[in-house]
Amino acid sequence: MKATTYQGPKNVQVKEVKDPVIENKDDIIVRITSTAICGSDLHLIHGLMPNMPTDYIIGHEPMGIVDEIGPEVTKVKKGDRVIIPFNVSCGHCYYCQHQMESQCDNSNPHRDAGGYLGYSDTYGGYAGGQAELLRVPYANFGPFVIPKSCELEDEKLLFLSDIIPTAYWGVDYGGVKQGDTVIVLGCGPVGLLAQKFAWFKGAKRVIAVDYIGYRLDHAKRVNRVEAFNFEDTDNIGAHLKEITGGGADVVIDCVGLDGKKTFIEKIETALMLHGGAMGAINIAAQCVRKFGTVMMVGVYGLRYNAFPLGDFFSRNITLKMGQAPVVHYIPDLFKMIVEEKIDPTDIITHRLPLSEASHGYEVFDEKKDNCIKVVLKP
Ligand code: NAD
Ligand code: ZN
Repeated sequence: MKATTYQGPKNVQVKEVKDPVIENKDDIIVRITSTAICGSDLHLIHGLMPNMPTDYIIGHEPMGIVDEIGPEVTKVKKGDRVIIPFNVSCGHCYYCQHQMESQCDNSNPHRDAGGYLGYSDTYGGYAGGQAELLRVPYANFGPFVIPKSCELEDEKLLFLSDIIPTAYWGVDYGGVKQGDTVIVLGCGPVGLLAQKFAWFKGAKRVIAVDYIGYRLDHAKRVNRVEAFNFEDTDNIGAHLKEITGGGADVVIDCVGLDGKKTFIEKIETALMLHGGAMGAINIAAQCVRKFGTVMMVGVYGLRYNAFPLGDFFSRNITLKMGQAPVVHYIPDLFKMIVEEKIDPTDIITHRLPLSEASHGYEVFDEKKDNCIKVVLKP
């Protein structure tokens, strides 16, 4: 089969690789119909995640048709249309049983943290879903079977695999409630969806920050938020604090290991080599109100020596973070999409055949052609 593979920093190639096979009795093989590129994949291709072997198959936002099932699979059958959550989760351990599927005790043989599809050996070493076929472990738990009565196209449902529940979790776990002021850092796919869900939860004011003009325009136009380019202000954190009268109730960091335009600058920001002046965490520390919450949805992967711990401590700020436990959110969010309470398709700017994945990565990473979200069609 064909699959998108990691060949080193900034080098992704679609290659011919071996088809996956059933390894455990509760595995399934899914023939992928649509699969997306995520901001998290950019951290991988920037070389920021340790333990990424060459030829590793990447991708963790897939959906498709069940092609083969293991002998102990009861939840799905061959021919079912399924959404595959990025969390690999067993369904039996304490964490899976308590809606914390992103920290499943049985999904990561390499360390005490959850396992994810296509996200390096550090996260369990599972082959990813930007491929024609995908092996899905623990198929009696994770996959969401789309009812036969639902005729919605893939694009409406695909992001249930990750960024819809992730963005929802960002506002939900971040504690956004009626009447709150919410600042969303980052107007990528995750930030744009988080803005929608902040309104949905009853926020009275939603403010977006980025430095990419077309993404800020999209946020203003589609999500009706106030939008700020952090390059237009000397100190965006202080400015936001002022215009919100002391800071936002909740600041959602949908940036993570990013912060500057060029590849080198991104690495430097990640390592906080400049004290992280532009890092989202530093902005968040300033523009959250006293006793407010900073919710880090953006992925971080390295040590952060210049983390502004004193700012968080002295102003009683709550900090929450982590990989989203998406599995338990999918059914309710699916219903919201079917009932047209949310439409995630406005963020899709590029639809490409799988064979053009490398081009997809380039436009998404370098913010070319007004790219917001790339969907690949194997
Ligand atoms: P993206 O790269 O498209 O979006 C990030 C946006 O942040 C970009 O538009 C960028 O210009 C902007 N940005 C950079 N520095 C900034 C700063 N200092 N302040 C404000 N904006 C800034 O990625 P995405 O797909 O939207 O994903 C966003 C983040 O969410 C990534 O870090 C990704 O890894 C993470 N993520 C986390 C989970 C989870 O489970 N926690 C799941 C999916 C994605
Ligand atoms: Zn993702």
